Amino acid sequence: MIPLNPTHDPSLTSWVTSANDSPDFTIQNLPHGVFRSRTEADSQFRGGVAIGQQILDLQAAIYSGAFDGFEPMVLAAAKAAAHNELNDFMSMGREAWSALRAALSEILRTGSPHAPKLALCLVPQSDAQMRVPARIGDYTDMYTSIHHASNIGKLFRPDNPLTPNFQWMPIGYHGRVSSIDVSGQSFRRPQGQSMPPGATQPVFGPCKRMDYELEIGIWVGKGNALCQPVELAQAEEHVFGLCLLNDWSARDIQAWEYQPLGPFLGKNFATTISPWIVTMEALAPFRAAWTRPAHHPQPLAYLEAQANRDAGGFDVMIESWIHTAQMKQAVQSAHRLSHSNFSHSYWTVAQMLTHHTVGGCNLQAGDLIGSGTQSGPTETEAAALIELSVGGKKPVALTGGEIRTFLEDGDTIILKAWCEKPGAARIGFGECVGTVLAAQ
Ligand code: MN
Repeated sequence: MIPLNPTHDPSLTSWVTSANDSPDFTIQNLPHGVFRSRTEADSQFRGGVAIGQQILDLQAAIYSGAFDGFEPMVLAAAKAAAHNELNDFMSMGREAWSALRAALSEILRTGSPHAPKLALCLVPQSDAQMRVPARIGDYTDMYTSIHHASNIGKLFRPDNPLTPNFQWMPIGYHGRVSSIDVSGQSFRRPQGQSMPPGATQPVFGPCKRMDYELEIGIWVGKGNALCQPVELAQAEEHVFGLCLLNDWSARDIQAWEYQPLGPFLGKNFATTISPWIVTMEALAPFRAAWTRPAHHPQPLAYLEAQANRDAGGFDVMIESWIHTAQMKQAVQSAHRLSHSNFSHSYWTVAQMLTHHTVGGCNLQAGDLIGSGTQSGPTETEAAALIELSVGGKKPVALTGGEIRTFLEDGDTIILKAWCEKPGAARIGFGECVGTVLAAQ
């Protein structure tokens, strides 16, 4: 776990004044992303750091000389973080990430002598186009909320809701990279096979049970060599940071195809992520204890460590909202579908990463791991419509008089996450927004 340091000081303010009352991008956050300007002609994608309503353009900041007075590692890290994909920066490891964060905290702080020249290196977020911040080699989606697994299991397999392996290891499957895009993504409702209840043969057509899944995305930083599993005590050294992830799910296609080998076309048409990566260091004040109830199976030795018990969890508030076509037309605000906390996860990020590599699998910088749908213990904490509507049997009432069992064309799902507690400055993830369009 990363100890607190001066970059976490809640009394710090920035000369970028919009940071000082930002719900997300305070000077204690400093998340990394890749952007280009919509207003400058021929603007190229490059790395930046979110601060208030602005982005610090790292290429411009390097050119301004703002990093020249620091140790050499800072300039090397800034150069890598300024690339049009963050893989090189991610592979540098924690020491370099932390050195750059310390320097950014200093130069963006109120009273910094660098302020006048760095003010020219800011791009308003409203003028920026974001993109997937790294070249994702592999994407894995886990299944680590026992509440989600139990709720879904009851619907898919009433006689056997929680499979016997669930409590012994983080369950996952290898997913699809090419259809992952950042917030703002829209996609056509997929077509596919499904088996209607009571039918004797499948039908082909547009998905009828379109759903979202509220997940946390885990960005792998430093990779591990093939055949060299990562021990639990070292697992977090391989994690660069977290984002929001919407694992769009075609439930009718999924239900028909998932046995015997798992999700396939029900999941591979779109995945939306938030564009800013909140670093593990920024999250340090918001770590939470991880517990396993005494009457549940306790983890095998390779998934057990005291540090993981003490602070392996993350106290991150997570919410999902829906903004329907009708709400947009009526200029009505979005409706909150669920709210929960990532600390309810049955397995920690470190356990997911260690289990992923235990057979020798090599993770690489820029790999992405979805945490699995993070439903909490109560009804309002269910992080997918299939749970909220009990498999489509109990419609969800929305403000404005509409109801939903599953998503309709024109529906937008907005995911939000933030960390807040006494004695620490609030940090947030920004939004992860995606829209379902009519089938082709
Ligand atoms: Mn999922």
